[in-house]
Amino acid sequence: MSTNTSSIQTVLPKNLHGIDQANRENALAQARKLMAEAVGIDSHIDTVQRVMMGEDLGDRHATGHVDIPRLREGEMHAPFFSLWVPVFFQGAEAVRRTLDLRDAMQSVFDQHKDQIELATTAADIERIVKARKISAFLTIEGGHTIADDLRMLRMYYRLGMRSMTLTHARNTNWADSSSDTPLHNGLTEFGKEVVREMNRLGMIVDLAHVSDKTFYDALAVTTKPVIVSHSSMRVISDVPRNVSDDMLRALADNGGVIAINFGMGFINPMDAEKLKSATHSEAEAPTLTGKALDEYATRNAQKLFGQRVSVVATVDDVADHVDHAVKIAGIDHVGIGSDFDGIAATANGLEDISKMPTLVAVLLKRGYAESDLKKILGENVLRVVREVTGE
Ligand SMILES: [Zn+2]
Repeated sequence: MSTNTSSIQTVLPKNLHGIDQANRENALAQARKLMAEAVGIDSHIDTVQRVMMGEDLGDRHATGHVDIPRLREGEMHAPFFSLWVPVFFQGAEAVRRTLDLRDAMQSVFDQHKDQIELATTAADIERIVKARKISAFLTIEGGHTIADDLRMLRMYYRLGMRSMTLTHARNTNWADSSSDTPLHNGLTEFGKEVVREMNRLGMIVDLAHVSDKTFYDALAVTTKPVIVSHSSMRVISDVPRNVSDDMLRALADNGGVIAINFGMGFINPMDAEKLKSATHSEAEAPTLTGKALDEYATRNAQKLFGQRVSVVATVDDVADHVDHAVKIAGIDHVGIGSDFDGIAATANGLEDISKMPTLVAVLLKRGYAESDLKKILGENVLRVVREVTGE
């Protein structure tokens, strides 16, 4: 799933070049110290599918990007675990898949009670992180999971899910996706009802993956701040999944947060072509149901994440996206949404979540104040969680 190079020397970020080993270790130690005191939110990781395939998150794995030991090494205390339902699950099958993923996370909570706990409010996140446990906030990826039925949305809320992207890689029956041919000119009337119901329940509207028109339609309807949980800067890598400067300004006006994606195509334009082809191959729809569809999903994930891809993007490129987002949207509107375990390859230097201190060391070297880095490392998204969930 990821390359297994653990040495930061082989992928030394430019801005840590020219300093000797001792200074580099000092920079990483300073980053770790700051991160130990931060909330540590990554607003989008897709690790639940690996749990579905039988992996124990309590163990440190040589493959994949995230598990409990690597969250601790990376000082990321409050991941948002996405229940990602591929778009080839539709209707009742999409509901079943969402519940299966929720059940998989429950098994993690039950098995590792001493290490990880479900959070459904900002107060929960703060309490659990303070207790030195991993705070798991559950999100849904893909509005097709509600099968065009607000009752499903309400049931997901009752099961502890507190955020949902309106689409994934294909249009839903009520919202256009950024990687599909426009069908509804943004949000339909029912789509607007979904946004209002999410506001009423206290679920965060996540505008990652939606088309630009859906983005602006949702902002016109919502009365609460939104997040774009895992997208990057279109001005640097011009792919539809990234956001434009105008979208960044609209997001800041809403009080929302853009969280930077580490996937190679999101970060570096030279890698972007690979991202486009990956998005297409994932969206082929088989006419399968039940166990056969589940097995198809497993094979699809293995194909998507099992490949070895050469990547141009580096941790410095990721820092450039953070810089640009801060410049346009402002320091109060930027976060981290790595997309770990949901991307075929990440930027060099950020091979998995344990490498997060490298990014923070680069940002420190670029002159960010510690208080500003703490905003990026969770305080901004925590503010949205508090405003939306009400506590
Ligand atoms: Zn995604």
